[in-house]
Amino acid sequence: MPRIAISKKLRFDVFKRDGFQCVYCGAHPSETVLLEVDHVHPVAEGGSNDMDNLVTACWDCNRGKGAALLSSIPQSLEEKAAVVAEREAQIRAYYQILELRKERQDEEAWSVADIFMERFAEDSIRREYMVSIRMFLERLNVFEVREAMEIACAKKYSTGPAWKYFCGVCWNKVRSATADGSHPHH
Ligand SMILES: [Zn+2]
Repeated sequence: MPRIAISKKLRFDVFKRDGFQCVYCGAHPSETVLLEVDHVHPVAEGGSNDMDNLVTACWDCNRGKGAALLSSIPQSLEEKAAVVAEREAQIRAYYQILELRKERQDEEAWSVADIFMERFAEDSIRREYMVSIRMFLERLNVFEVREAMEIACAKKYSTGPAWKYFCGVCWNKVRSATADGSHPHH
């Protein structure tokens, strides 16, 4: 299928770096989406097969929407089998990455909750607190969120005020990160 021979390892390294997502339209591998690697600088113009010249692109974006559908192109049985195997490998690897990401997010959220529970000798944490911790972790890195929790736990002597303080510190960080983002040269 690929116009230039790119090893499966290199191809999947590119997919992994890009989160198994087409850089042009955001599609993930599925029954109807097959990913390929696209050369940023075309091979015909001297582009290389280095990682930094390769991006993940779905078949539609890579070949152009006008191209005939994959399924309508005459293929040998071997070619069809190779496409099916490739599609299955992509879907499997993509779900594996989603699973790993979910595990890491869980670990991070509990590492923040643990600081709170240990400080106040609680053996559980309110469900809505966990929801908020996960929400902050989507906007800030885990070190910032843990630091906010440590500050709150050091300053306050009961759960309610500590929790409020933690949320206040996190929101301040979110706001200043947003402000920095809109003034990159500031
Ligand atoms: Zn696409």
